[in-house]
Amino acid sequence: MPGQPEDGTEREAPAISLRAVRKAFGGVRAVDGVELDVAEGEFFSLLGPSGSGKTTVLRLIAGFETPTSGTVLLGGADVTGKPPFERDVTTVFQDYALFPHMSVEQNVAYGLKVRGAGRREQAERARAALDSVRLEGFGGRSPGQLSGGQRQRVALARALVVRPRVLLLDEPLGALDLTLREEMQSELKELQRDVGITFVLVTHDQTEALALSDRIAVMNAGRVEQVGTPGELYESPASAFVASFVGTSNTLTGAAAELIVGKAGTFGIRPEKIRVLPDTGDHDRTHHSEVRGIVADAVYLGDSTRVVVDTDAGARFVAVRQNLDTTAADALALPGSRVLLRWHRRHNVPLDPMT
Ligand code: ADP
Ligand code: MG
Repeated sequence: MPGQPEDGTEREAPAISLRAVRKAFGGVRAVDGVELDVAEGEFFSLLGPSGSGKTTVLRLIAGFETPTSGTVLLGGADVTGKPPFERDVTTVFQDYALFPHMSVEQNVAYGLKVRGAGRREQAERARAALDSVRLEGFGGRSPGQLSGGQRQRVALARALVVRPRVLLLDEPLGALDLTLREEMQSELKELQRDVGITFVLVTHDQTEALALSDRIAVMNAGRVEQVGTPGELYESPASAFVASFVGTSNTLTGAAAELIVGKAGTFGIRPEKIRVLPDTGDHDRTHHSEVRGIVADAVYLGDSTRVVVDTDAGARFVAVRQNLDTTAADALALPGSRVLLRWHRRHNVPLDPMT
């Protein structure tokens, strides 16, 4: 393990802790009282919409910004006032600009060069870093001769070569097309397992966060709404915001909630939990919640069909069903028909209303 403390006292400390961290830019509260603990060796993501404060949190951890108030700790040590180069952290940005006039190997070795490493050490470690991102033998090329995915891997190698204790990644795959992005997601996860250091990934892409992370912090307007494993966030979202940002969710509140769920409050119901049945008039309300309605729209998606229903209770519902037997023609014939929506009561997830 890199940076293992000698005396053992820091071993239990989280790799990163933020305590009551605030950051204001003029009147804008970019980060508004964030508490976070990221464990050593964890793959941790900050997930949230644009402008929710993710990049600012990352820059506070790296030391490119200092908090307006609060404390940043790395491995248990207070680094709040320390400059970036005194923190055992490297950052990979979305626009991972490589030096165009340098070879791939020189790009990767650059961080070692400025730290005063000898030529031989530079070359050996740069090659090892390139191996770790599967770019063996690419050292002599210039960045212009690489694909987007390869350039992104060079940026990763350049960050890993200095053997940081923590790697910060700000939307590193944002510039890549979907296929390449999915491929790089698997590689990123593998890489993190191999090098065993703490990764903090910033992303607005819930699929990416769910696929990669041990735990995720969902951010909204400068605050952390919930921290949890992908399963916890999806199955037990703490707020309407988390329920709608991590996956999609129907939200029931007010009179419609009382009518359908049978009690007052705000509830989230995932579209894939809802069965769309022909309205034959029979009930099964012991274990299930039910509502009738008219199909307003049906979208055929190949593997599944998304069915939009205007319910008699007033609320519009979205249900997703796998096309086990349904054909495209079946799906397209649905609009206008009366249906019964039925789901198990355990899928009524209580939520704090959207604030
Ligand atoms: P995200 O990465 O989630 O999109 P950011 O952390 O970049 O969000 O920004 C959070 C908020 O802080 C936004 O409203 C943004 O406009 C503002 N902000 C970020 N950096 C600065 C800055 N240097 N000066 C002024 N406002 C900033
Ligand atoms: Mg950002």
